[in-house]
Amino acid sequence: MATTNKPNLELRFVIIGAGMAGILSSIKLLESGYTNITIYEKADKVGGTWRENTYPGLTCDVPSHAYTYSFEPNPDWTRQLPPGAEIQEYFERMTAKYQLEKLIHFNEEITRCEFLEGSWQLETAGGTDDRADVVIAATGVLHHPSYPKIKGIDRFAGDVFHSARWDHSVPLDGKRIAIIGNGSTGVQIVSALAGRASQVTHFQRTAQWIMPVENPLFSEEEKLAFRTDKDLLHRTRNDQTYIANVQRFTEGIANPNSAEMKEIEDVVLANLESSVKDPVLKEQLRPSYRAACKRLIFSPDYYEVIQQSGVQLETRAIEGIEELGVRLADGELQEFDLIVLATGFRADQFMRPMQLTGRNGTTLEQAWSHGPRAFRSISIPEFPNFYMLNGPSGPVGNFSLIDVVELQWDYIAQLIELVATGKCKQVSPKQDALDIYEQERVEAAKKTIFGSGCKSWYLDDEGVPATWPWSYQKFVDVMKTPTLDDYDLRS
Ligand code: NAP
Repeated sequence: MATTNKPNLELRFVIIGAGMAGILSSIKLLESGYTNITIYEKADKVGGTWRENTYPGLTCDVPSHAYTYSFEPNPDWTRQLPPGAEIQEYFERMTAKYQLEKLIHFNEEITRCEFLEGSWQLETAGGTDDRADVVIAATGVLHHPSYPKIKGIDRFAGDVFHSARWDHSVPLDGKRIAIIGNGSTGVQIVSALAGRASQVTHFQRTAQWIMPVENPLFSEEEKLAFRTDKDLLHRTRNDQTYIANVQRFTEGIANPNSAEMKEIEDVVLANLESSVKDPVLKEQLRPSYRAACKRLIFSPDYYEVIQQSGVQLETRAIEGIEELGVRLADGELQEFDLIVLATGFRADQFMRPMQLTGRNGTTLEQAWSHGPRAFRSISIPEFPNFYMLNGPSGPVGNFSLIDVVELQWDYIAQLIELVATGKCKQVSPKQDALDIYEQERVEAAKKTIFGSGCKSWYLDDEGVPATWPWSYQKFVDVMKTPTLDDYDLRS
């Protein structure tokens, strides 16, 4: 095989998903000179999670300026924390700016992806066949709604839907609304509906720690300064205080007994103590596990809102749902017009239900028989030239997944280059490398704050955090250069 320093720009890429990670991948590939790219998107629009989630109050809890591609800062954010609709607009703008529409096949879901005779054969639900040398799975993590198994839910006479399937035709003003679930989503919905609905009842199964946060509007002067002063915009995008906070936060996650974690605990405890007046309500809102064990909720106003008239915290267990509303375990029936299921997502699905088959007929179900695993969160043994963005065991927490994906991309690009320059034809991690990585990761993950004794979507079936367990800096370091000894490189 001819080895060259010049990459073969004819290499064929298929990207699955046109959300934040798929858009990033295609921009980066185009920048490197590759043009033989198709993006398959199951929906009719780009945007991924920001397309699917449109619930009232949807906001990202990462500062707006940090929540952009590093190379595309946005001077026009209206607030400190970006509203979901603005994030969606941002990704649509990126798609238009980089002329990605011509690469995207909308309404085409990949159902089969199989490595046969040296390349990936793909098939969509609509029957389209395709092939690729390299597949990028940019399918996201939180895209399969988790529906609670509550008896009688089908009997409800009013409206009921999941937070990620918001039905905007359903009226909210003056209605009696139940919100089940108090993760980041449920808390934001409660804040947005208070004052609009005649009654908001927030069903809480487990209390949450709440991190106070401010969310001011940017003034016209500030936005003008961002538009006219490129250095200022760049400095704001790469705000050193934010970066230092992420480093400290992840140090705290990795070392629950650290000063960094103590600082987080002090802030959320002080928030609860000082914000909630009624002693009974305060105890209902007090979690019995450590701060940041579940993903921290950042909210500027939840404690204030839950104390308003017309807003009710309900901690009694749900017995079932009936025609008129929610039956509590003590027998009381609460009547509603709308029930919102802010009950989260099945976080272990990744690119499933796609049928994925690697080299020698190895299926994903075989590779993941003990749960989703990927070497450094990116690739799987026997699945050559197949790369995941935001795959299993990546960094998660209250920081930007865009930065995570950019780092992952830089790592993947180096593996792609091996194939493009003819150094080999197939790249996949060695099984040994994955086993050692997983063993070390699991040992470390058990010791993180996520493993300190609570239930959350971070945990796998065995209760071990399925996350990056080390500091953010370690992730940055590891993503700099692949250690090729860990890879099976085949010609
Ligand atoms: P989540 O954090 O998984 O929360 C699900 C909620 O539903 C929990 O309160 C859970 O209670 C409750 N629940 C589930 N089944 C239930 C049942 N059968 N009966 C009663 N309650 C039930 O889901 P999410 O709030 O949608 O958030 C998921 C993730 O999306 C977040 O962690 C975050 O990563 C992302 N997100 C981010 C932002 C942001 O600002 N960046 C905003 C929204 C979402 P238990 O706690 O008792 O299990």
